[in-house]
Amino acid sequence: MILPTVRVHSSDRDIPIHSDLPAVYRKLLRSPMRDPIPLETENGLYLTDLELFLDSRRSRENGFVSHAHADHFGRHENILCSETTAHLLKTRYNVADERLNPHPFHEPLEVGPFRLQLLPAGHIYGSAMLHVTRKADGESLLYTGDFKVHRSLTAEEPVFRRADTLVMETTFGAPKWVFPGENEITGMILNFVNQCLEEGVVPALLAYSLGKAQEVQAILTRSGIPAVSHPAVAKMTAACREAGCRLPEPLTFEGTVPGGHALICPPNVMRSEEYQAIPNLRTAILSGWALDRNATYRFGVNAAFPLSDHADFPGLLDAVRRVNPRRIVTIHGYTREFSSELRRQNYEAWSVDGGDQMELDLQR
Ligand SMILES: [Zn+2]
Repeated sequence: MILPTVRVHSSDRDIPIHSDLPAVYRKLLRSPMRDPIPLETENGLYLTDLELFLDSRRSRENGFVSHAHADHFGRHENILCSETTAHLLKTRYNVADERLNPHPFHEPLEVGPFRLQLLPAGHIYGSAMLHVTRKADGESLLYTGDFKVHRSLTAEEPVFRRADTLVMETTFGAPKWVFPGENEITGMILNFVNQCLEEGVVPALLAYSLGKAQEVQAILTRSGIPAVSHPAVAKMTAACREAGCRLPEPLTFEGTVPGGHALICPPNVMRSEEYQAIPNLRTAILSGWALDRNATYRFGVNAAFPLSDHADFPGLLDAVRRVNPRRIVTIHGYTREFSSELRRQNYEAWSVDGGDQMELDLQR
């Protein structure tokens, strides 16, 4: 009997499979018995054969740094990262040039028996995923770092590539985290800002100094609204501009906010006397956690808008579909909940934190 075939992979390892076989057999057909690329998880994420740590906060000999946020950075002797991240690490943390091994997106990097590739993660400007292929048998692994599935104004468009093992962040990996569309969120922020300006009130947008702050700067710029930035924000905006991001030259806050301007600053500075002294201030936090109904109370702000640089729950599932992996390791946030959801969908998945409850298969 000749069965119709479909292609499930977009890579050069496309394997024809029979479309009318039950899913479990299709999975077996495209799963030749290859050993996974070894990944240790007990003491940080470590690719054993490459002797490479992934986003370790402790200083290591060799480390991949997916992006320039502090919780993904360690002062490794040899840092593999994107070209933009290298520039941001130098500006933000004074990392010496000789430690940095910047590599362009998409370009293959041959390391012994492995081929590495950095792919845009869409999280912040310069953020990268790491794709690893073992040349001998084609076995592959994708490490996402922090990622987003929809394109933002300032980060590169995310690119997902098929891999046998997917190591993914699950910050918003529970079904309740579903963000509104980008246009809707942008509309909420602009309404807030315009209303403040009409009432003669200063709109203060609270956003992390690297990533979210540049994104809201881009949103305001597109609508012709000028903004002054806290020095930490202005420094990162300038660094992103130097690395090629299209943003206006930042205006640094020096004690007063000119009329008609918004203020962009990190959330923690609002407690400082200098910022408390600004008259007629109305604050809004920009964060995925804004979906929590107590967000304004928790953050101590007047308004909260769910502008996030992470994928929401449907976005995480979308990423899994695009990568089409044979096994998944979840890291950060709702690791157990999301791996459990994936097992319900017949994926082999487990949490890096352990403690996965294997569901009873009532059909057996
Ligand atoms: Zn991050």
